[in-house]
Amino acid sequence: MQSILIIEDEEKIARFVELELKHEGYAVEKATDGRTGLTLAESGNYDLILLDIMLPGINGIEILRRIRRESDVPVIMVTARDAVMDKVSGLDMGADDYITKPFAIEELLARIRVTLRKKKDSAAVQSSVLHCSGLTLDANRFKVAYNGIPIELTAKEFALLQALMQNKNIVMTRDNLLSNVWGYDYVGETNVVDVYIRYLRQKIDEKFKTKIITTIRGVGYVIKED
Ligand code: CA
Repeated sequence: MQSILIIEDEEKIARFVELELKHEGYAVEKATDGRTGLTLAESGNYDLILLDIMLPGINGIEILRRIRRESDVPVIMVTARDAVMDKVSGLDMGADDYITKPFAIEELLARIRVTLRKKKDSAAVQSSVLHCSGLTLDANRFKVAYNGIPIELTAKEFALLQALMQNKNIVMTRDNLLSNVWGYDYVGETNVVDVYIRYLRQKIDEKFKTKIITTIRGVGYVIKED
């Protein structure tokens, strides 16, 4: 269950939003002053924070500034009507979105869904590290290692290994790999795949005395993991 923290001093609004969010299946906690809100926010227990700007104690902008020192938890700012400056400084400070009071609950729910989804997508990109039989491939950092020992690969070798690891336990034909790594419009020797598989084997299988890349005779290649 995803949990949402509401920091809002207007009890009626806080209560109403709490009920609606619970009805949608979220776990909800609320704080009605800035200090309590900040303490709860800093606990790191939430998937999203709804943050009012005008609050007793510490205002929303300051709370956001402190949250952002150590966390990228999604924050939706709740601003008074036409408080353009608040919106601008909220977004500058790293708010993910804002909504203006008074708001329709449907709009708030939609913004919460979108913000949570964006967060999930970016988490997926960040964790684009592939693992297989002792090999790790970090696509964002262009790094490959075998049991923690770095392996130097060229761009094409890297792309070929990535294609195999993304499809581990699935036999990839030479055509699959050609179009994946060299592109559909590749013109040149069709044995280029075999050549690069040989390079990879020299750098991985032979170097580390293992057998990671398997040839499926007459078909193609596979990286298997039991
Ligand atoms: Ca307020």
